[in-house]
Amino acid sequence: MLNIVLFGAPGCGKGTQSELLEQRYALSHISTGEIIRSEIASASELGLQMKEYIGRGELAPDAIVVGMVKNYLASHKDVKGTIFDGFPRTIAQAEQFDEVLAKLGDKVDLMIYMDVPEEELVKRILLRGKDSGRADDASEDVIRNRIKIYNEQTAVVADYYKAQGKYESVPSLGTIDEVFARICAVVEKTMK
Ligand code: ADP
Repeated sequence: MLNIVLFGAPGCGKGTQSELLEQRYALSHISTGEIIRSEIASASELGLQMKEYIGRGELAPDAIVVGMVKNYLASHKDVKGTIFDGFPRTIAQAEQFDEVLAKLGDKVDLMIYMDVPEEELVKRILLRGKDSGRADDASEDVIRNRIKIYNEQTAVVADYYKAQGKYESVPSLGTIDEVFARICAVVEKTMK
């Protein structure tokens, strides 16, 4: 099993690189953000609960998100490994995630931090918002709030994995292919 946490601020390119990694190494891939958006789109009860948080650029409640990951793992048992994209985003999520994986006899192998300067993040998300139709990408205020919350609540999750010796930082400016090559180098070092 190869379990990778792909980590970084909103707009750093996690989604794009996750898809490339999924194909290159035949891994399974879960994006908590995508699951949340589809719950909202289908107006499920869960979606309705989360809609206000996401619209303000806040995080969804830990219990809901951890529940989603648990469900995902229960329905994807015969995989070579999984890319966790946008999860965990708080220390509480990281701790609960370790417990969930331990019960399955599993663990996180690697956290990859995609390092992108803040001003570049805002530029990229505003550009993405023009064609993605994502409500949380359209307003600069909401984007800035997401980055603020990332700095306050999520950035510390890197320290959690540093303490476990699982952290690798990858400079993530440059073309998609350049960044992918750097990420692959880190993944292959871990697989050895
Ligand atoms: P981005 O990384 O660009 O913000 P995502 O698709 O990963 O995009 O997430 C979109 C939104 O979904 C986040 O701003 C947050 O509100 C919510 N979300 C996603 N993952 C989590 C999580 N693990 N915990 C709490 N909220 C989450």
